[in-house]
Amino acid sequence: MRLNRSSSAALFDRAQKVIPGGVNSPVRAFKAVGGNPLFIKSAKGAYLYDEDGNKYIEMINSWGPMILGHANEMIEEAVRNAIGKSFSFGAPTKAEVEIAELISHMVPSIEKVRMVNSGTEATMSAVRVARGFTGRDKIIKFEGCYHGHGDSFLIAAGSGAVTMGTPDSPGVTEGTAKDTLTAPFNDLAAVETLVAKNKGTIAAIILEPVVGNMGCVLPAQGFLEGLRKLCDQEGILLIFDEVMTGFRLAKGGAQEIFGITPDLTTMGKIIGGGMPVGAYGGRAEIMNYVSPAGPVYQAGTLSGNPIAMAAGKAMLTYLNEHPETYTYLNKITQRIVDGFRHNLESLGLLHTINHVGSMFSLFFTNSDVVNFDSAKTSNTTMFGKYFQKMLEKGIYLAPSQYETLFISTAITEELADKIIAANKEALKEIHS
Ligand code: PMP
Repeated sequence: MRLNRSSSAALFDRAQKVIPGGVNSPVRAFKAVGGNPLFIKSAKGAYLYDEDGNKYIEMINSWGPMILGHANEMIEEAVRNAIGKSFSFGAPTKAEVEIAELISHMVPSIEKVRMVNSGTEATMSAVRVARGFTGRDKIIKFEGCYHGHGDSFLIAAGSGAVTMGTPDSPGVTEGTAKDTLTAPFNDLAAVETLVAKNKGTIAAIILEPVVGNMGCVLPAQGFLEGLRKLCDQEGILLIFDEVMTGFRLAKGGAQEIFGITPDLTTMGKIIGGGMPVGAYGGRAEIMNYVSPAGPVYQAGTLSGNPIAMAAGKAMLTYLNEHPETYTYLNKITQRIVDGFRHNLESLGLLHTINHVGSMFSLFFTNSDVVNFDSAKTSNTTMFGKYFQKMLEKGIYLAPSQYETLFISTAITEELADKIIAANKEALKEIHS
């Protein structure tokens, strides 16, 4: 059944005249999957409503932060209470202390934390501190990992950068690019070689401990341990970019699940409960390099914004006090993944599903997907067709193969079964 999307189409026409590509973040444009993007009017719980009044079951959840579903009443109330006291002071508040204490409690490797306004700010700042602390210039990142749009990271970048065909962005100077070394994800030997060749010059290794930005890719057995050991031996700081995984895979993020302690962690998304928030933190010894405690400068007029802190405090307090949230998320996501696998197998379609906790990706390939090269073996044309079929059936997926899906607690067993049934129909239609 074709949905009426005429209002979205008209808005997209208008948007393209005044916004580059019609959107404020590239992947939203649906370029990789064809068709016009949906313009969203509102969302509640598990559902998203577009400007034409169509209703969709959410499987992206604002790229992760709506872990409790949209417009959660408890968070709404916290925001409403904060709004009455003005929107920004540019001065310290009690809520900032409380949220820092909460983050430090939930993620023990974070002894001190600085709030910023986006994941991009968090990663840019973490790398600056790592450089200031070690007195070294170079960093290692992994092909297909995305760490926001800071210049140092737009080298072999995943997410929208690869979706748009620009993993190495113009506008990044050669001077900056030369300080970013890259290795294939899950290839410890390649990292060891890079480190040996650049001995004493590498400030940090930054990675998504579970990658979301080339699709969902898990760390191989021993990979994170190996990086930790190498960093210890060579005086390199290990930075876990947990912007997606923080407070999602567990209260303590991926580092809790895999039992590896990074030196610095970057976070975002879930802390703000949908408000623009990022954070970076780690060992006090390192974070004490940040101004005004130390010489590495980093600042923000709206950092620690009281409305965002109120949302974040409500969200993190809930997650801290309700560990059963993760049990539920894992169970409901497993149900969906099992259903998808069953559908794909019964239709004899090539596939790989990577899954951890409430994150997963379906790749149309028969290769194991362990890094960027194997992610790229996926049939993206087929993915585009699949995306459109799912949309027609009222399921809102990430509009790119190189993204992960995020499940919220608003997905009931009944909704999970609807998603599985839609997946079966969509697969049948693209197969025939
Ligand atoms: N790091 C990771 C792992 C991300 O997934 C993202 C965004 N998806 C970022 C950093 C950048 O965050 P933001 O878009 O908030 O700048």
